[in-house]
Amino acid sequence: MNLENLEKILKKEPSYRQKQIQQAVFKQFISEWDEMTNIPNNLKEELKKDCLLEIEGEIFPSADGKTFKALLSFSDGAKIETVLMRNKDNRNSLCVSSQVGCAGGCAFCATGKMGFNRNLTSEEIISQFLFFARYLKKNFGDQEKITNVIFMGMGEPFLNYDQVMTAVQILNKEEFIGLGARNISISTVGIIVGIKKFTEEKEQINLAISLHAPNDELRSKLIPTNKENKIKELLGVVDEYIVKKSRKVMFEYLLIENVNDSARHAKELAGLMKKPLYMVNLIKYNTTGDFRASSENRVNKFKKILKKEGVNVTVRKSFGSDINAGCGQLANKN
Ligand code: SAH
Ligand code: SF4
Repeated sequence: MNLENLEKILKKEPSYRQKQIQQAVFKQFISEWDEMTNIPNNLKEELKKDCLLEIEGEIFPSADGKTFKALLSFSDGAKIETVLMRNKDNRNSLCVSSQVGCAGGCAFCATGKMGFNRNLTSEEIISQFLFFARYLKKNFGDQEKITNVIFMGMGEPFLNYDQVMTAVQILNKEEFIGLGARNISISTVGIIVGIKKFTEEKEQINLAISLHAPNDELRSKLIPTNKENKIKELLGVVDEYIVKKSRKVMFEYLLIENVNDSARHAKELAGLMKKPLYMVNLIKYNTTGDFRASSENRVNKFKKILKKEGVNVTVRKSFGSDINAGCGQLANKN
């Protein structure tokens, strides 16, 4: 949907009309302008012509019916994936993509392997939300809403900073989608300039850092961007963020067998992570080819060491790996 055109069209209209239309698109999630019965026909025709509501996508549900992956296609043929996770406690979390592919090139990540194609626009990011909001409404009823949005799909959000932040505002602002800032999270591979900018934003969005290794030598091997964003400086800017925002920061740590999951790695990690507002989230590696996931036994040992050292640590449940919708498995074959 072309938001700029929508804005242009709405500018000519009285403010109650703007509200009606924003309400219909961003709160009632209409998929066709004909669903609106309270606007004049000439306006409807104009909207149909210059502001297409249609979003092209195909849905793949997981076997347990809890995870849905959508492959969306944009006008230039670019395709991206978006994943909806339905939790028991009435939460529906949406994992959105910020880029087509990614320049990050992380060794364990399927998106990284496909390389970088282009940035997504804020509209394309929002269309991922609207696509699944409409799907939930149609298939599960009016009460079913997306409650959380996480930027953990394809791409590095802080390498597409402005479009991502514009999308965050549309998600957050009451006249648009009106999702609470605390229900929006951004995961970054640790782009220092991005974190600095993010620290100055007024919205209280959650921040997650993909750490995955406790020292620069190993981290640079797994995550090429570490060479320009070393751990010490990275944690330095994270600490500034915490001072300014008084918010927790989540550090994601993927456990890969015999690569980063030994007792020595756990102790080294504990040395970095023993701070009150640091949270460590251990993630099961989803197979993308080259590595193996750590055994449950090794995951438990790793967790135990961190706990004993006084680190705040949790283990993440994984979703949707049977449809390649787990973290790091997102890559379209086209
Ligand atoms: N580029 C951002 C956000 C997208 S990746 C980032 O790197 O943080 C989202 C998360 O999935 C990151 O924590 C990433 O490290 C993780 N991930 C990548 N490949 C994975 C894999 N094969 N298994 C599990 N998690 C993976
Ligand atoms: Fe890009 Fe994140 Fe994948 Fe690394 S883990 S290649 S930064 S999407």
